Amino acid sequence: MTTQTPSPVTSGLPSGLAAVEQEIARACEQAGRERSSVTLIVVSKTFHASTIAPVIAAGQRQFGENRVQEAKAKWLPLRASLPDLTLHLIGPLQSNKAKEAVALFDAIHSVDRPSLCAALAKEIKTQQRQPLLFVQVNTGEEPQKAGVAPQDVDAFLAQCRDDYGLTISGLMCIPPVDEAPGPHFALTAKIAARNGLKLLSMGMSADFATAIQFGATHIRVGSAIFGER
Ligand SMILES: *Cc1c(COP(=O)(O)O)cnc(C)c1O
Repeated sequence: MTTQTPSPVTSGLPSGLAAVEQEIARACEQAGRERSSVTLIVVSKTFHASTIAPVIAAGQRQFGENRVQEAKAKWLPLRASLPDLTLHLIGPLQSNKAKEAVALFDAIHSVDRPSLCAALAKEIKTQQRQPLLFVQVNTGEEPQKAGVAPQDVDAFLAQCRDDYGLTISGLMCIPPVDEAPGPHFALTAKIAARNGLKLLSMGMSADFATAIQFGATHIRVGSAIFGER
């Protein structure tokens, strides 16, 4: 055993964030990937601005929220002082909230049906804002979960492009809680590859290292940083 010296990357970070950064570094090394190829989205849903403040102070700028109203209340006041803030909507989006979502978020990870595509396309045009868009894939085909069934993704992507003029940059998935995540990440990566999509939003607190192994470009991590909600 050698004594652990704090890594220059993680010294001075809040402890949860430091542990996650170390795990990301380890997973990247194992996968032969650059740390810069993985974007850490810190999921701040349900956490108060005062809990998030130390993570912002540590330099983190990518944050994920799952509700439009909560995100507005929390982040609008902080936006002005954080010009490089990047906000990700990771939860389901109702079409009637598309206007607010396009105004606030820099990325939307939950595109999954034509009515939402229509609403997003309209807002992207009128607001002249281009959030990064991910199509959510329901890899486990769970009836209670949002997302496009794996066998329908190719056709849905064509529809996004041809019928709505949307540029989709990647795929997002949330594996079933009671299954090994690897096969779900592999399936998502395979569908993305055959459609020429470069971004993969996959991996949460319990499985982000596995997701990195399978090519995740965006991992969404909350409780491993802030504790249980
Ligand atoms: C809450 C949430 C996360 C983060 O989950 P943790 O287990 O707390 O890391 C990631 N992705 C989505 C879609 C979520 O809703």
